[in-house]
Amino acid sequence: MHDIRLKVSYVKGLAEGLEIQDSKLKKVFSEIIDVLDEMAEAIEDLDMAIDETQEYVESIDEDLGELEDDFYCDEEDDEEYDEYDDDEYYDDEYEYDFDDEDFLEADCPKCHETVYIDKDFVVDGKAECPNCKTEIEFDESE
Ligand SMILES: [Zn+2]
Repeated sequence: MHDIRLKVSYVKGLAEGLEIQDSKLKKVFSEIIDVLDEMAEAIEDLDMAIDETQEYVESIDEDLGELEDDFYCDEEDDEEYDEYDDDEYYDDEYEYDFDDEDFLEADCPKCHETVYIDKDFVVDGKAECPNCKTEIEFDESE
């Protein structure tokens, strides 16, 4: 944006070089140049604000990337865990504590995903499959 300020000062110099005698005309030129000055300044401010925003967004993006790496790296390991039988799977190997009593386990009848649902979200023994949104019925006596 330095360019714009440079150009404005160049125009200012040109206008002064004209040595305008007509006071009204001179006034118009001076006003136009003032406006150009202000615009250049405003654009410079905007440019700085955009730079800051961009930096901020980039840092958010980096942080999110790290979170995604952490999150999805668990999922990639799932195939490996499929080989374990259930008890071993949950007691020893899996990071998430699905043995927690607040969670109910169910196999979704539609997408056949094994889902774990917080008891708080189970109403009248029913809850939505987080994977396909189908209603799943729970046997809460388990
Ligand atoms: Zn489902």
